[in-house]
Amino acid sequence: MAEIVIKGVAKRFDTFTALHSVDLTIADQEFMVLLGASGCGKTTLLRIIAGLETPSEGEVWIGGRRVDHLPPRHRGIAMVFQNYAVFPHLTVFENIAFGLRMAKVPQAEVTRRVTRTAELMHIEQLLKRYSGELSGGQRQRVAVARALAMEPDVILMDEPLSNLDALLRLEMRAELKGVLAESKTTTIYVTHDQVEAMSLADKISVMNGGRIVQSDRPTEVYRNPAARFVGSFIGNPPMNFLPAQPDGAGGWNVAGQRFDGPGVAKAEFAIRPEDLHPAETGLRAEVRVVEPLGPHTLITADVAGQPFRAILESDRPTSPGEVITLAPTPDRIRWFDPETQKAIA
Ligand code: ATP
Repeated sequence: MAEIVIKGVAKRFDTFTALHSVDLTIADQEFMVLLGASGCGKTTLLRIIAGLETPSEGEVWIGGRRVDHLPPRHRGIAMVFQNYAVFPHLTVFENIAFGLRMAKVPQAEVTRRVTRTAELMHIEQLLKRYSGELSGGQRQRVAVARALAMEPDVILMDEPLSNLDALLRLEMRAELKGVLAESKTTTIYVTHDQVEAMSLADKISVMNGGRIVQSDRPTEVYRNPAARFVGSFIGNPPMNFLPAQPDGAGGWNVAGQRFDGPGVAKAEFAIRPEDLHPAETGLRAEVRVVEPLGPHTLITADVAGQPFRAILESDRPTSPGEVITLAPTPDRIRWFDPETQKAIA
């Protein structure tokens, strides 16, 4: 069992607070993605779990054991970083074997584990090659194989695919997901790429300004953002937001259109671009830009003076300057508190 529990972990660098009392539980064998913009504290949190950074406050538990006072090598974890430290002067075999040699694992066991993980990562034919001769994608596989060979309870990955080109990323992403599910490790994976996060994660923890804003299954994070920030960060293009005023009759006025909404004093209206469709009644949108995307067309419009995007079926031609009426799918409308920025249930 390698459940990871983070309790009230804070990190201050001099006067700057990189993490504000983070609480997070990652279940045994779960694939957790830490997602957020540059500087939000993802790497700092990962380094604290790894033992490469000391928390200013709080506790880290792995598999029921408190580890925040233990050195990295006693935590049962393996790591894969963005600038994967593969040694060019060593063969692929020796690179994968590196941690096992450090841990004085017997030769027969080293051979068994290196062969097995090389097969898992489809690099068994490269074992005798020097790592300096490999492509970026092959080196990335070696780095992952080296981590897997340790048969760790926990694997920590910090943007491991960010040095690969787009096609290779896609391929490695699918492969990683399969391999890690098979290896039964608990994984924490840091990325700022929301598509990567959605595709890999059992759960996503969205971070902003040193805090975890939401931690949930990808579909839940996408469909039901707990805060305005999550709706605006996840989704490409992101969620649309419009101001709303109570209409005095129990409903809300949004860009001149009446909607049912929550029974509160103030609220902001939100809808995802794909949850809109042309209709007789709805939001009046002046089309500014039309971008055909193949199966869909992305429309950037102006709704009540606000920028607003819709993803429409490609068979409904429209052009800049045209005024269209867009109806939001009722059960996809979300509401946020304009002050706290949190979702209103
Ligand atoms: P990125 O995606 O750019 O790596 P991140 O979300 O991983 O960003 P962190 O590397 O965790 O962000 O950094 C969080 C904040 O803490 C940043 O503002 C960073 O400048 C600051 N920080 C990180 N390490 C140190 C340090 N050793 N000394 C001072 N400030 C630091």
